[in-house]
Amino acid sequence: MTARPLILLCNDDGYDAPGLLALGAALEAFAEVIVCAPKTNQSAASHALTLHSILRLTQFSERTYAVNGTPADCIYVALHSGTRIVPRRPDLVVSGMNHGPNLGADVTYSGTVAAAREAALRGIPAVAISADVHADLPAAARLGARVAEALWNLGSGSNRPQLASLLNVNVPPGTSAGIRSTRLGSRRYNDEVLFRRDPRGYEYLWIGGSEVHHELTEGTDTAAWEAGFTSVTPLAYDLHAGSEAIDVAQTVVASSLAIDQAKSG
Ligand code: MN
Repeated sequence: MTARPLILLCNDDGYDAPGLLALGAALEAFAEVIVCAPKTNQSAASHALTLHSILRLTQFSERTYAVNGTPADCIYVALHSGTRIVPRRPDLVVSGMNHGPNLGADVTYSGTVAAAREAALRGIPAVAISADVHADLPAAARLGARVAEALWNLGSGSNRPQLASLLNVNVPPGTSAGIRSTRLGSRRYNDEVLFRRDPRGYEYLWIGGSEVHHELTEGTDTAAWEAGFTSVTPLAYDLHAGSEAIDVAQTVVASSLAIDQAKSG
């Protein structure tokens, strides 16, 4: 018999967000769950660490902790505070469920994904789960928990894959039509900067447009989303661009040497 896994649960919406609570309840069906999550909404915080101000850890219940920092802070603190938060190294880190999808390039900005990435960088399999704001929360949470359990099951064998230990899951609105493995698609926002004036007459800015356009190429997470399917996208955390980009770097290196010679000649 296999012991129940220990899951560290985080998010970027805050420790008391409905998506986290729903996911925690679903994960408890097969795992011990400890929450260490941001005290306030940290959406779009990406992978920031708080290095220039103090952090405070608050315990809200036996298994719920909050840090007044970023999602990556929360994972860092939970993993490196001895047995203060987790009794042992977690078997799995789950982040979510985020309030709204994290598709395509969203994964660059997402604090939800960053919490999972922080764990994956330390060799712990991790899943980020996001659900549409109109998703059926308990159903989406059960779906997300099944993906987490399946990833954990891979690791219980001796042939644990070294790749794909960071997964990004998105649950569409309504009832999910099924589940697909995907790659990142393209999600284009109607980018804008709004200039306004505050009540004292000082100018302020508000960034980020609301409209969004999805790539519909077969096999992408954005296409799956549009077709009503839940997507499971493996993410890399080695950011090297791959062999096709080496040419560009080599050309830049050669060109920079030529500039150097021209200036010193
Ligand atoms: Mn969020």
